Amino acid sequence: MTSADIYLDHNATSPVLACVRDALPSLLGTYGNPSAPYGLGQSARRAVSAARESVAFLIGASSAEQVVFTSGGTESSNLAIKGVFARLGFGVGGHVVISSVEHPAVAGPAGWLEGQGVSVTVVPVGRDGRVRAADVLSAIREDTRLVSVMHANNETGAVQPVEEIGAALRDRDVLFHVDGVQAAGKLPVSVESLGCDLYSVSGHKFGGVKGAGALYVRDRKRIGWVQQGGHQEWGLRAGTENVPGICAMGLAARAAAENLAANVRIQRACRDVFDSLTHRVPMARLNGHPEQRLPNTTNLCFLYADAMSVCMALSVQGIFIGTGSACASHRKEPSRVLRAMGLSDMAAYCSVRISTGPGTTIEQAKSAAEMTVQAVERVRLVTAPEAIGECGDDCPCFVDAAADSGS
Ligand code: PLP
Repeated sequence: MTSADIYLDHNATSPVLACVRDALPSLLGTYGNPSAPYGLGQSARRAVSAARESVAFLIGASSAEQVVFTSGGTESSNLAIKGVFARLGFGVGGHVVISSVEHPAVAGPAGWLEGQGVSVTVVPVGRDGRVRAADVLSAIREDTRLVSVMHANNETGAVQPVEEIGAALRDRDVLFHVDGVQAAGKLPVSVESLGCDLYSVSGHKFGGVKGAGALYVRDRKRIGWVQQGGHQEWGLRAGTENVPGICAMGLAARAAAENLAANVRIQRACRDVFDSLTHRVPMARLNGHPEQRLPNTTNLCFLYADAMSVCMALSVQGIFIGTGSACASHRKEPSRVLRAMGLSDMAAYCSVRISTGPGTTIEQAKSAAEMTVQAVERVRLVTAPEAIGECGDDCPCFVDAAADSGS
């Protein structure tokens, strides 16, 4: 990266915040083992406790003791989903409800549970990338133990109706896990008002370093351990704590919470610039809900312009955007999320994700948008038919007819 480069892939990972970078030498110096009784260990323990307070503050937890540190979002969701059944006992059956646009960090452990005799219902989303709360609730059965719905989608930014689901689950004996990896630090989060039991976060999505995350656990008695070893984190996450990573996440959480309103304002303005590409580029569409969306995310389909080619054309100009979820973008498969929304394979292959962060300026957004217009034009010179017409809402290029007919 040079100072002229424009990084627009914050949903994949975020740059380390300056306040975290400046503190890193002293964080690395806090090398004692938090379990050790002498001074060095105890100062590491105190630093971890301070980080716990900051993460609790970011997500509106009523007690810091409800925050369990992990290695990141993937581990947090694995602990949440498997941990519920570790407590109940594997082999007792049971049922889990998830949405069709969950990150592999949730879909993966849910699939693993199926192998343990748990049944899983996957609730579809609409064309806007949002699941309907009523559909989630009507999927609940007598033996449902857990509902897991993400707060905001990593690809489209679509914000899910988690508050509505949480309110409806309050009086039922069904645990509610929310994958908040994309929401924490970008939206105001209150696990108390969401009414969730479990909430996953990841430090590297809001300015911390990679390898540190957290799981909010309302009541530790409701989940069991899935990793045997030491008794760190109340026995829920065995292994010596990643003290510098946890402290970096704590600092980033504090900064994200304090600057949230200002960050949202600027990111919305940048998002408007990228959204306006739907008017500037022919055959371009916004994927995902226009309003119920993260303030930093625009997912656009530029039909006939292969996303990887657009991404590479921008990359040589120092502009970095995403082509799907970070884990899947090296694969030659269309985005699972966009396919679940009913996009055709072709539309999914032609969709890019632009996600800004606290450091993005409106000037950068305007310049990147201009370059995107040119990049799409250049790619289409090679890949598009000679005349690009106008399509209606039900154009088969955009819409998967099979998904539409319900087959
Ligand atoms: N959940 C969502 C919604 C994500 O976007 C990601 C990462 O992109 C994860 C979970 C995984 O988080 P981590 O990279 O910290 O394991």
